[in-house]
Amino acid sequence: MRKTADVVIIGGGIMGASTAFHLARRGCSNVVLLEAGEMFGLGSTGLNAGGIRYQFATSVNIELSKLSIDMMERFADDMDQQVGLRRCGYLFMLDDAADLEQFRRNVALQNAHGVPSRIVSVDDIAALAPEVELDGIIGGSWCPRDGLVDPNGLLQGYVSNARRLGATLLTDSAVTGVEVVGDGIRRVKTRALEVEAPIVVIAAGPWSGQVGAMAGVDLPIQPIRRQIAVTSAIEGLRPDFPFVIDFSQALYFHREGPGILTGMSNRDEPPAFDTSVDEEWRLRHLERAMERLPLLTDAEISAEWAGLYEVTPDDQPILGKLPDTEGLFVCAGFSGHGLMHGPATGLLMAEEILDGGATTIDIDPLRWERFGRGVEVGEYNVV
Ligand SMILES: Cc1cc2nc3c(=O)[nH]c(=O)nc-3n(C[C@H](O)[C@H](O)[C@H](O)COP(=O)(O)OP(=O)(O)OC[C@H]3O[C@@H](n4cnc5c(N)ncnc54)[C@H](O)[C@@H]3O)c2cc1C
Repeated sequence: MRKTADVVIIGGGIMGASTAFHLARRGCSNVVLLEAGEMFGLGSTGLNAGGIRYQFATSVNIELSKLSIDMMERFADDMDQQVGLRRCGYLFMLDDAADLEQFRRNVALQNAHGVPSRIVSVDDIAALAPEVELDGIIGGSWCPRDGLVDPNGLLQGYVSNARRLGATLLTDSAVTGVEVVGDGIRRVKTRALEVEAPIVVIAAGPWSGQVGAMAGVDLPIQPIRRQIAVTSAIEGLRPDFPFVIDFSQALYFHREGPGILTGMSNRDEPPAFDTSVDEEWRLRHLERAMERLPLLTDAEISAEWAGLYEVTPDDQPILGKLPDTEGLFVCAGFSGHGLMHGPATGLLMAEEILDGGATTIDIDPLRWERFGRGVEVGEYNVV
């Protein structure tokens, strides 16, 4: 079957769905979104930890968080969809003097953007999270406005509202080819469908490098496995247990229902699309988790899974129109903290496509062209 559209979006995670919604809300509803999975949310968007935070090290990430979290606050009213926004706070714990210095600079930058984060002492950390073992910790940072959101609620809100506004969002539609057919038009092919459009958006998360190659562009985005374990109910776990991060071990915990969700990033994980749980890493992770949070010792694991970070050389996303191409756009490579930036990104992509450039936030630091100049400062607060 052949179809035409104003915009084709490849990938139906938070980035693709938010972009489809924001385009349709602006009146551009002849949009076709093609998602490979049998349902939406089988990529990173359905496999993440649900954390939202303002505590970043670059201005653009802090601004993406501010805009996105404001949108999450209004989500139930604007989109008729609950997203379970919970401000439990993020507590970064540090055991290294150089990290503490960097976090002082990060907090100063966050404060300059109006974020109420602060550097905390070991005594402050003990008061904020008395459940945590503080061996080796020398300080940290805390922002009470950070917290959690329901990833699937956010995604479904964008999918259903984009459809309500007239966009076409299809599952079971893996893109197998993207070819130029003349007059600035591209033909995007799946097994069952060919869609021709003047504008194509690559929003395929960890698979964006592959999709980019189909369209003839080099997108430096690597898939890196990250795994998570969730415990069954833990008696006496307080409702306001914060999102706690042991930064040097890339080990984190937050409350998930009546239990704890924990993850630990293997910084030596090689790029690959494997999402099986790595048994060796699992054991190391659980051992370290019990050392830091002794109340896990008697807990049972109720769920475990692995997903993929979509990592760029500077841990920053690639956003906007691609140079030297007509009508080719990208929004991908969020390097493990993209769920929380999905709402803002869709709005910015709609501006980029419909107005000829994003204006609500300056996305120049995130454009593909930065790689040609050599990667400069990237995001430091990566877990
Ligand atoms: C374990 C883990 C924990 C995380 N924790 C957090 C967190 O706490 N907070 C946070 O903000 N972020 C977190 N993230 C990161 C976050 O999940 C991602 O940054 C975000 O979901 C990226 O969204 P996306 O739409 O770009 O990608 P995805 O959700 O992966 O969507 C891309 C979609 O493209 C589809 N696709 C791929 N190839 C094709 C093709 N050829 N044709 C059609 N469709 C295709 C895929 O099926 C997929 O559904 C975490 C990620 C992981 C793995």
